[in-house]
Amino acid sequence: MPNLFHATVLAAALAATLPATALDLAARIPVGPQVKVGKLANGLTYYIQKNAKPEHRAELRLVVKAGSILEDDDQQGLAHMIEHLAFNGSAHFKKHELVSYLESIGVKSGADLNAYTGPDETVYMLPVPTARKEHVETAFTVLEDWAHGVTLNADDIDKERPIILEEARRNKGAQERVRKALAPKLYNGSRYVLREPLGKEEVIRTAPAEALRRFYRDWYRPDLMAVIVVGDIEPAEAERQIKAHFAGLTNPAHERARTYADISPYKASDAVVFTDDEIPGNSITLNYPVRFEPDPGTYGSYRDKIIVSLVNMLVNQRLVELTQQANPPFLAAGAGAGSVTARYNAAMVVAGLGPGGMAPALTALEQELQRVRQFGFSEAELERGRKARLSAIETDAKARDTTDSVKFVAEYQRNFLAGEEIPGIAAELGLMREILPGISVADLNAAARKAFPADAPKLILYTGNTKAAPAPTAAQLLAADAAAVQAPVTDHAEKKLAQHLMERPATPGRIVAEAHDDKLGLTRLTLSNGVHVILKPTPFRKDQVLLGAKRYGGISLADENDIMNARIASELTAMMGVKDFSPLDVDKIVAGRKVQVNVGMSDYTDEINANSGSGAEDLETMFQVLWLRFNGVRRDEALYQAYVGKLAEVVRNRAVTPEQRFFEALGDTLYGANPYVARTPRQEDLGKVDLDRSIAMYRQRFASAKGMTFVLVGDFDVAAIKPLVNAYLGTLPTPDLPLAYRDVGLHVARGVVKKEVHAGTEPKSLVSLTFSGPAVWSDPEAQRVQVLIDVMNLRVTAVLREKLGLIYGGQVMGGVQREPYPHYEIGAVLPTGPEKVDRLVVAMFAEIDNVRTNGPTQEELDKVKANWRTTYPQRLNDNGFWLGHLLGSHLTGTSPERVLTLMDELEKLTVADVRAVAQRYFDKDNYVQVVLMPEPAVQTASVAR
Ligand SMILES: [Zn+2]
Repeated sequence: MPNLFHATVLAAALAATLPATALDLAARIPVGPQVKVGKLANGLTYYIQKNAKPEHRAELRLVVKAGSILEDDDQQGLAHMIEHLAFNGSAHFKKHELVSYLESIGVKSGADLNAYTGPDETVYMLPVPTARKEHVETAFTVLEDWAHGVTLNADDIDKERPIILEEARRNKGAQERVRKALAPKLYNGSRYVLREPLGKEEVIRTAPAEALRRFYRDWYRPDLMAVIVVGDIEPAEAERQIKAHFAGLTNPAHERARTYADISPYKASDAVVFTDDEIPGNSITLNYPVRFEPDPGTYGSYRDKIIVSLVNMLVNQRLVELTQQANPPFLAAGAGAGSVTARYNAAMVVAGLGPGGMAPALTALEQELQRVRQFGFSEAELERGRKARLSAIETDAKARDTTDSVKFVAEYQRNFLAGEEIPGIAAELGLMREILPGISVADLNAAARKAFPADAPKLILYTGNTKAAPAPTAAQLLAADAAAVQAPVTDHAEKKLAQHLMERPATPGRIVAEAHDDKLGLTRLTLSNGVHVILKPTPFRKDQVLLGAKRYGGISLADENDIMNARIASELTAMMGVKDFSPLDVDKIVAGRKVQVNVGMSDYTDEINANSGSGAEDLETMFQVLWLRFNGVRRDEALYQAYVGKLAEVVRNRAVTPEQRFFEALGDTLYGANPYVARTPRQEDLGKVDLDRSIAMYRQRFASAKGMTFVLVGDFDVAAIKPLVNAYLGTLPTPDLPLAYRDVGLHVARGVVKKEVHAGTEPKSLVSLTFSGPAVWSDPEAQRVQVLIDVMNLRVTAVLREKLGLIYGGQVMGGVQREPYPHYEIGAVLPTGPEKVDRLVVAMFAEIDNVRTNGPTQEELDKVKANWRTTYPQRLNDNGFWLGHLLGSHLTGTSPERVLTLMDELEKLTVADVRAVAQRYFDKDNYVQVVLMPEPAVQTASVAR
C-alpha cells in the first residue's frame, strides 16, 4: 500500500513543519477520547474513564448541582443536613449500616469524610475496591440510594441535629466572626451571604422532616445530577451499572427552576475595618468588582485562562520581590484573578501587614499594580511564565498513566458544575504548545488592566487585632488608597542573570563500593568521600524523583542559649538564596524547572527532603541546589532585617487565638516547660536571635555530609544518574562531626496530671488526653500500637459521635518512638462544647476501659485490617512511602525488608494481641489531661465602616 504509506508520512511531515493552524477561538473544545460522557433520557449526566492507578480501585461520585443557595427560608442548613443523613438510613441500608459496610470493605467513612455541601453543589464520594463484582454492584446501589432513596425519618434527623451543631461549633471563632461581618460587603448583598451551607442553628435544631423531604424532592433529581466513575473498572460494565441504577429516576412533575444567585459589582469604592483580638495578625485586602463570565469552554476562553494564570504568576513574583528588602512594606502579599463562583470572576490582592502597618503596604500594593498598568510586563517575565506553564503541563502529560483517579474525577466534576473543558492531557499539551508562543506581552498587559482596573470601584478591607496599635479608620484607608493610586511610578527593572547556578564540579567523586538488593530493587553505593547512597528506581509516578537523607543530631545538639538560633537556622539560611544569588535570582534562574530542596534540623535529626522532575535539567538543578546548601550559604543583612521584622510580628501575635494558647499550655504541661519544646517564639527569644550565630549553627550541621545516606526514589535510570551522584554527592565535604542526638529531657510528665486552660470567647472546648511512658521499641510493637489507635478512632466515630452526639469529629494518634528513649505516646484530641466536657471524658474512659477489658470486637479488628488491605498496596506503589521507609529503617538500623511481610504480620494479629497492647499503654494512673474552656464572655469584636 505505497500510496497510503506516502500519505501518512506526508501528513506527519506537514504537521511537523507547517505553522500551527489558527485556532477557531469561538469553537468549543471537544471532549477528549479518554472519557465517555453520556446522558440518560431523564437528563442524568455520566462520565466514565478507565484508569489503573490505583489498581483494583475506582472513584465514584454523585454530583448534585444543588446546594444551600436553593434553600427556602425554613430550610437554611438543610442541604447540608441531608448530606449527613444520606449516610444514616436509605432504601438499602438502615441507620449505621452503610458506614459499617463501607468500613468492612476497607473504606474509612462517616458523613463529611465522604461528602460535602456547598452553595451550588452537594458531592458524594465513594472510593471502592473493584476486584470483587459484588462490591462494585453494592457501590452503585449506595450511589443510587443517595440519589433518590434517603429515608429522612424523624428519629434519624433528631439524632443528627447535635452532631451538626457540633460541626457548627468547630467553625466558631474569629475567622467566622470576620466572615460574617465582611461577607455582606464582599458579596454586595448577594444571596450567597444569606445561604451559608451550615445554615441557621435554629433551623438545624427544629426543622421538621417535611422541610428536609421538600428539599430532597425538589432538588435531588436526575437533570441536576452527574455520576462519575474513574478507575480500574471496564467502562462497559460501569455504563451498564449506571443505566441499571439510574435510568429509573424521574424528575418531579412540577419542577422548580434551578436558579443561580447573582452578585452585583460594587457601585462605589468603600472600606471596612474589622478588629477582633483573636485575629492572629493584621491584613488588608483590595477587592475588585465581580464580572459575569461563565466559562463557555471554548478555545478562546481556554487561551484567556492561560493568560490570566500568567498574569497572576508574574504579579505575585513582583510582590514577593518587594518582601526581599530590609524594610519590606508588608510581610507577605498575594494577588489573584479568578473565579468567585462558577459564573463570576473577580480579582483581589491581599497583604499581611508588618511593623509599618497599613500605609506602606497599601501604597506598595497600589503602586505595583499601577506599574503593571503603566509599563506592563517584560519579555523576560513572559518567557519565564511560558516555561513554567509548559513544564507543568509536560509533567502532567508524562505522568498521565500514573495519575491517580481522584485527579481525573475532580476535572469531570468541574466540567459538570462549571463547564470547564476536558480535552484530555494529550490534547491539552498540544494546545498549550500551540497557544503559549502566540501569547504576547500586550495580551498580558491587557488582561492585567482588565483584572485590576485602575478606576473601578473597589472594596478595601482591614482586619486585625488592636494589641500593638489602633486600627486605621475606613476614611483613612480610602484616603491612603486614593493617594497611592495617584503617585508616580517607574518601570520594573529586570537584571540579567546567569543561566545556571553553578558549573558541574570538575573533579567528581567515585563509586568505591556497589551492592544490589534484588528483593527490594535497591542499588547501594559508597562514594569516595564516604557518603552512602541508596537508589530505588520505580515506575510509580512518571517525572517524579524524590531525594532524602536523615542522620541523628538536630536541634538537640544546640546549647540552651542557642536553641532559638538553631530553630530558625534552616529557614533563615534558605531565605537568603545561595552563593551570589538572592532567593529571587535563584527562582528566576531555575524558572520552569521542577525542583524543591529543603535542608533542616528537627528535634533529633538533620534532614534533607528534595524532589525534582526526571528531566536531565531538573535533576541536575536539584543536585546543584543541594550542593550549594552545603557549600554556598549566603549572608544577606537586608533579608535578615526583613526576617527579624517578620519574627517580631509572629511574637506579637503569639497566643492570640484560643487554640494557640491551648496548645502552648499543652506543650508546657506535657514536657514541664522544657525550653527544647517546639513552640512559637516569645519576646525574650527575640533578643537571642543573631544572624551570624544562626548561620554558624547551620554550618555546624550542614558543612559536612558525613554520616548521611542519601536515598533516591522515583523515575530515573541508575546508570544515567550515577554521573550526577558522583559529581555532586561525591564532592560534598565530609569532615568529622557528632553523629548522635542528645536526650535533652523532652519526656512526658508521669502520674496523673490535669490542667484547665481558659481562652476564647466562643462556647468551645477541646479535650486532650495523652498516655505516655517507656516502651520496648520494635517494628511489630509499633504496628500493634497503630492498630489499637485505628480501633480507638472507629469508636470515636461510632460511640462518641454517632451514639452519644458529643462531638462532630475527634482523633486519636501517636505511636512508639525511639528518640530520645524508647517510649510510647498515644493522645486524643476531642473538640466539644464546654457543657459536654465531663460527659465526653467519662465516655472516652469508658471506651478505654472496655478495650482494656475486652479488646476490640472481632468486627472492629476486621475493619482495621480491611482498611490496611486496601491502603497498604497503594502505599507500596508510592515513592514518598518508600523514601520514608528507607530513610527510617536506615536511621534505626532495622531491616527494610519488613515492608514485604508487614501485611502477613497484620493478618495474624488477634483481639487478644490488641487487648494486651491496650493494657500495656492505657495506664489510668499515668496520663495528662488538658482541657480548654472559654473565658467568661467579653465583647472583643467590632465593625466600623
Ligand atoms: Zn457536615
